[in-house]
Amino acid sequence: MISKFKNVLVLAPHTDDGEFGCGGTISRLIDQGATVHYVAFSWCEESVPQGFPKDILKSEVKNATSVLGIKPENLHILDYKVRYFTSKRQEILEDLILFRKKINPDLIFIPSINDVHQDHMTIATEAVRAFKNRNILSYELPWNNFKFSMDYFFKLSENQVLTKLNSLSQYKSQIAIRNYASEDFIKGLAKVRGTQVGTEYCEVFEVVRIIS
Ligand SMILES: [Zn+2]
Repeated sequence: MISKFKNVLVLAPHTDDGEFGCGGTISRLIDQGATVHYVAFSWCEESVPQGFPKDILKSEVKNATSVLGIKPENLHILDYKVRYFTSKRQEILEDLILFRKKINPDLIFIPSINDVHQDHMTIATEAVRAFKNRNILSYELPWNNFKFSMDYFFKLSENQVLTKLNSLSQYKSQIAIRNYASEDFIKGLAKVRGTQVGTEYCEVFEVVRIIS
């Protein structure tokens, strides 16, 4: 089933959401020959702690996505302001439609429709609107998901989990404020999801739509 996805688009409201939600799966898709595009809608200058350059997340997302195997030309960084996506809903929809035409993806990863963060919810809602006729899966961010339906499991090798960890470790400016970027948490969650389906490691997704 996974091999049918050749051209994949990951929508990350903020730098690092895509790596947290589906970093292992991105690594597996690339291992299997897919092209993966990554759109970060904000480089989050408001989230940079004192002492770091304001645009550090731009270079960190470049490093993190490159560790996953995403080519530099397939990384797209936009500059929406954190927490104000709701007021830019129409511009975001128009950007998504441009990406649909330019990339023509056969699978799109988005946050959950039930994600409680307003920016994540905006991206999820507008993506469902823009990609009505495509395969869409929502990734898991447990700290933001009050409800999450575990529908679609991607098995991961230990190496793919380690690649996800290595990717997240590129976010040096966020280490002190993101306790869920720890090896314990990332490996533990992959192990829990794997155990649910009788394998070692997985990431799990909500199915918004699968067409086959
Ligand atoms: Zn986010």
